[in-house]
Amino acid sequence: MRVRNKPWAEPLIAAHPEVISTNPIEFKGNWQARFKKPQPIRIEIGMGKGHFIVEMALKYPEINFIGIEIQRSVAAIALKKALANGLPNLQLVLADGADLNEYFEDGEIDRIYLNFSDPWPKTRHEKRRLTYKTFLQVYRTILVEHGAIELKTDNQGLFEYSLLSMNNFGLVFDGVYLDLHHSDEALENVETEYEHKFSEKGQRIYKLKSHF
Ligand code: SAH
Repeated sequence: MRVRNKPWAEPLIAAHPEVISTNPIEFKGNWQARFKKPQPIRIEIGMGKGHFIVEMALKYPEINFIGIEIQRSVAAIALKKALANGLPNLQLVLADGADLNEYFEDGEIDRIYLNFSDPWPKTRHEKRRLTYKTFLQVYRTILVEHGAIELKTDNQGLFEYSLLSMNNFGLVFDGVYLDLHHSDEALENVETEYEHKFSEKGQRIYKLKSHF
């Protein structure tokens, strides 16, 4: 996701430490205290401008959500949306999703969403894909027993790669959708920004649901 540098991003983020954290290490093991109620926690890695995570928090008040984003200006746009909705079950994090086991205690997370993650198509960049085995290893430790991972993408290469990588890692598949918007799974679907953009152009959306 490319956005221009936003000079208002830094002060807005600094003004709202109750909603967005830039040093998530300090909340490791204590995330529930950041929410109004202790409830299962689901995270999105690479939330972009936050459309999905805000909609999910509105739709599922019985779940706590954390949106993680590495780009400051992008996270600041998500923060604006979160503030406009005043959600007691939504927290944001401006940090690198590669270090999740520094931010979360073992078993602290219930489900992980990977939506339209960067595909890193070159073989020499395989290790950067968010479904590479080193990432899966970290996901397994921060997730509850049998915790779930859901992935959506328009990128066939990343989808095929993720199926293999996750299968080789021993994940169990609960659903594979080669054309999400023309499947039963479309009924409950909450669109992301990228999803909206790509499907408007007629591109197919892939989805998989899995658990450890
Ligand atoms: N999930 C959103 C955005 C997809 S674009 C949507 O579906 O619309 C991918 C996003 O992941 C970008 O905003 C990018 O900055 C972010 N990202 C990439 N690597 C990341 C990392 N290591 N940690 C956190 N966010 C990351």
